[in-house]
Amino acid sequence: MDHFQYKNGALFAEDVALSEIAKEVGTPFYVYSQATLERHYEVFAEAVKDIDATICFAVKANSNIAVIKTLADLGAGADVVSVGELKRALKAGVPADRIVYSGVGKSRSELEFAVQTGIRQINVESEEELELLSEVAAAHDVRMPIVLRVNPDVDAKTHAKISTGKSDNKFGIDWTRAVEVYQRASNMAGVAPKGLACHIGSQLTDLEPFRAAFRRMKEMVGELRGLGLDVSRVDLGGGLGIPYDERETPLPIEYGKLVVEELGDLNVEFEFEPGRMIAGNAGLLVSEVIYVKKAPSKTFAIIDSAMNDLMRPSLYDAYHAIVPLVEAEHVDDMQSYDIVGPICETGDTFAKDRQLTRLESGDLIAFRTSGAYGATMSNTYNSRALIPEVMVKGDKFAVIRRRIEIEEQMDMESLPDWQS
Ligand SMILES: *Cc1c(COP(=O)(O)O)cnc(C)c1O
Repeated sequence: MDHFQYKNGALFAEDVALSEIAKEVGTPFYVYSQATLERHYEVFAEAVKDIDATICFAVKANSNIAVIKTLADLGAGADVVSVGELKRALKAGVPADRIVYSGVGKSRSELEFAVQTGIRQINVESEEELELLSEVAAAHDVRMPIVLRVNPDVDAKTHAKISTGKSDNKFGIDWTRAVEVYQRASNMAGVAPKGLACHIGSQLTDLEPFRAAFRRMKEMVGELRGLGLDVSRVDLGGGLGIPYDERETPLPIEYGKLVVEELGDLNVEFEFEPGRMIAGNAGLLVSEVIYVKKAPSKTFAIIDSAMNDLMRPSLYDAYHAIVPLVEAEHVDDMQSYDIVGPICETGDTFAKDRQLTRLESGDLIAFRTSGAYGATMSNTYNSRALIPEVMVKGDKFAVIRRRIEIEEQMDMESLPDWQS
């Protein structure tokens, strides 16, 4: 459920008409509903309330400080994958002891920063990282709490580019090696192994791959304990899918039940890293139609946002529902459109043969479910502006990232002295 609804034919975010934001901020822009972000967090928290759980919002889904702060105020921790995200989480007020740090390529300076900041744990993804981390932490007289991210060799049955739990993916330590590595880690000076982590992919639309991964985790916890090793934390990652179209996805409550069913008696602290499930349906991308262009076999609606603003369709062939800001009066007057942006490549296509009510130049449309992996992936390709983000709460709205225009972008560049 979200708080983007039509009222008297106009699309609103909570109590603010999106056309009003468009007038003030200009298009394109991202808009988030604070009430929806809060609701999604609460739904997830409710789903895991019967177990000892820390919910660490996966910052890469939406890293705006105001979004992180919204969740931090409800008690959320953060899952970060770079020092940049770690700094954002700290700035948003997430306590360091609720931050977990994942990622296959943490550099020495990143590890140093994490160790000195005293975050909750580092999720170690290789033996090479383990050695470097132990060295770095020991040099700072720290025994850094870690969990080993295990690659459980489970097919998440999601898009290949966001599948992370198969043995040929770059993530985690192969499950067949993990016990041995854990044993080694427990004898290293700079690290204190607390448990295991897994994250098998994103946008999972079926619970069975989770079940398979959870079973493997449980087996391994048993094996470690059998060797006399201490296991007090299990991080189950994120990945719960959300409905982008009419297809049903598992409910958080069903996911929570599965965790209890498979792992409820494990006697550990659990960590969860939901990203998309919290932020996805809490955001829209709003654009204006520039031209409606008729080609021999197609009609193109050329809009003012492009693949640089919302990469998911061109990157993952992702589907986003597209809705008009003014509810059509004649829903029987459907037309077929290819919705495209101004960028000079054919990949800049948001939707093909999409049935929509008649569009005209100047019409405003919104891409639903754009709150996760939307703004965080946006860029300035074709020297376009980095587009703004807006937060709505009740009848108020505020720009939470301003538009970065080309002048500001060019200010970052300079000529080498032999050219000037
Ligand atoms: C991307 C990622 C997440 C979040 O995934 P969602 O599908 O957005 O829930 C969680 N943990 C790790 C390690 C990730 O890389």
